[in-house]
Amino acid sequence: MEPDCLFCKIAHKQTDTEILHETDALVVFKDINPHAPVHLLIVPKKHIRSVNDLGADDHDVVSKLIFSARDMAKQMGINESGYRIFFNVEKGGGQMIFHIHLHMIGGWR
Ligand code: 5GP
Ligand code: ZN
Repeated sequence: MEPDCLFCKIAHKQTDTEILHETDALVVFKDINPHAPVHLLIVPKKHIRSVNDLGADDHDVVSKLIFSARDMAKQMGINESGYRIFFNVEKGGGQMIFHIHLHMIGGWR
């Protein structure tokens, strides 16, 4: 846990952010500024800055993020209509919070 990291604070439930789903490895919550009717963030509890900083022992973390996105899409009822999952990487890739997170957006009519 990095004391100055917003997503560490959310993942360790030090804010009033509503957690939609939690496992030992990750939390899922709604993006505060949604870009689609459904916009979730899937965030590991482990502090990793970005995709660039994934280590050899982080394969399991990435896998869990993707499987969780898949499960959350079903829970939100958008698995069949479809959705996008993506990582923004560093400033040029649009990353603003430097704690790795998977975006899941969908729910368009
Ligand atoms: P990034 O641009 O780093 O890939 O995505 C960060 C996302 O976090 C943005 O879409 C932004 O709206 C969201 N966000 C920033 N601060 C907060 C917050 O305090 N709570 C929640 N739920 N989302 C946040
Ligand atoms: Zn962090």
